[in-house]
Amino acid sequence: MTAIKRVELGVYGAVIAFFVAAGMITSLLRHNGWYALLFAVVGSMAVVSVALERAGSSPRTRRAIRIATMWCFAGLFGWLMTAKAVNFQMPQVVFDLGAATVSGALIQLIISRLLAPFLFGNAFCSRACWNGAVFELVRRPARKAGGIWQVLRYLYLALTLAVPVLLMHAGFSTTGSEQTRRLWVLAENGLIFAFAAFTLPWWGSRAYCRLLCPALTISRWLAPWSRLKVSGRAELCTSCMLCEQQCPMTVPIVSFVTADRRVAARDCILCGRCVEECPTEALSLGFR
Ligand code: SF4
Ligand code: SF4
Repeated sequence: MTAIKRVELGVYGAVIAFFVAAGMITSLLRHNGWYALLFAVVGSMAVVSVALERAGSSPRTRRAIRIATMWCFAGLFGWLMTAKAVNFQMPQVVFDLGAATVSGALIQLIISRLLAPFLFGNAFCSRACWNGAVFELVRRPARKAGGIWQVLRYLYLALTLAVPVLLMHAGFSTTGSEQTRRLWVLAENGLIFAFAAFTLPWWGSRAYCRLLCPALTISRWLAPWSRLKVSGRAELCTSCMLCEQQCPMTVPIVSFVTADRRVAARDCILCGRCVEECPTEALSLGFR
């Protein structure tokens, strides 16, 4: 086994250990042992998904990656969010902080958006996100949105922080009642899926991620430091642009490849579609 392979396996092991530890801490804080199991499953599935991508892109590995991603969706959205009324979205972080509670939402935000990006960039979006798992099922080429939309994501982040503060000021919070929290989870995610469905014909399957997602608005500032990135070999690239046509995040992939640079784009979610589409195998996903 080469030294690089050993380092890579070490990274995978460290990430799984990190998820297990985070799950155990959450279990202790929330007095519920299921969190440890669920975090372990989500961490392992995300790592399996990246490892499969690294092993090579074929219809079979793509299917296996989708299954791993749907497991994360089932665990996070189907069980933890819907059945147990745990909310991982940004407003819940504010509600919990307002109630002086360290919750799953804050732990998830720290792991997936402030720590993991140094290793895995925005890969959470394509490997473990419950909304992203659904978006990954849809293949719709993206069209770049204009300048105003680039500002909108910051306004939306401010809104997701300000609205809970205003509601708490008016005496409303989701922290007290499980039923209120469940309704909030379903309403908030329903709006996200509705926005995604409405914008799909114009801006592709990842319009919500590119234009609004507050979590990606944070992690995109750390993503260029990611160890895991798409790499290109300029000598194999024919500038056919198939990769950019399939990129759901409108990343200017070819400009990186022809400049002999790894794709250090803030919005790359490491979904691997460009790698899959490239007819000359000029692209690959790898750690460095
Ligand atoms: S798909 Fe491959 S060959 Fe075509 S432009 Fe992209 S990197 Fe170059
Ligand atoms: S550059 Fe490639 S890996 Fe990154 S978002 Fe676009 S298609 Fe996915």
